[in-house]
Amino acid sequence: MVAKAKDHDCLLLGRFQPFHKGHLEVVKEIAKDCDDLIIGIGSAQYSHTPDNPFTAGERHLMISRVLREEGLDSFFLVPIVDINRYAIWVSHVVSMVPPFQKVYTNNPLTRRLFEESGYEVSSSPLFNRELYSGTEIRRRIASGGEWKHLVPDAVASVIEEIDGARRLQDISAQPRREVDESGAGIGEDS
Ligand code: ATP
Ligand code: MG
Repeated sequence: MVAKAKDHDCLLLGRFQPFHKGHLEVVKEIAKDCDDLIIGIGSAQYSHTPDNPFTAGERHLMISRVLREEGLDSFFLVPIVDINRYAIWVSHVVSMVPPFQKVYTNNPLTRRLFEESGYEVSSSPLFNRELYSGTEIRRRIASGGEWKHLVPDAVASVIEEIDGARRLQDISAQPRREVDESGAGIGEDS
């Protein structure tokens, strides 16, 4: 049997703070079109801030558990630190991840930078965006609201294991520190 040519490997970028059910829907949807799916965990250097509470390792654990439970196995998870220089952001990403041909993003700057480098870029469909939103979920966790139904069970388990709700509540109660989030800012703020 001749092996299928691998010419449709895809990249999805995000900060996944935390990985939620909208992300899972998008992954399941685009996985249908992709051979391998590479998930770049952006702004990897940040953790323990209200907007970036979880470490890259914790986010890696959340995503890998969910995707395994979903029976998806053709994926690579790669933490990617911000570099603060848009002009070389694509080269930076390319240097960190396996080869890919197509990028999925809703971030206009990410789209522009990858298109300028010759990549095919698609928007990912948005699912229940009012609730399936990292910002909304962090707000709920920080304020003691209901949030577990907005993330896959495996993500809720990881957050429990690391006492993540208390972490977010504690750091959100403190005066906000200045953090340079201009990054290559493309951890995804869309
Ligand atoms: P935040 O509010 O912290 O920016 P987010 O929910 O936008 O969190 P990101 O990590 O910024 O999550 O997003 C990664 C990618 O997932 C982006 O391309 C974003 O558009 C997409 N995405 C986020 N939420 C959804 C959703 N509900 N449905 C589909 N795609 C989503
Ligand atoms: Mg976003």
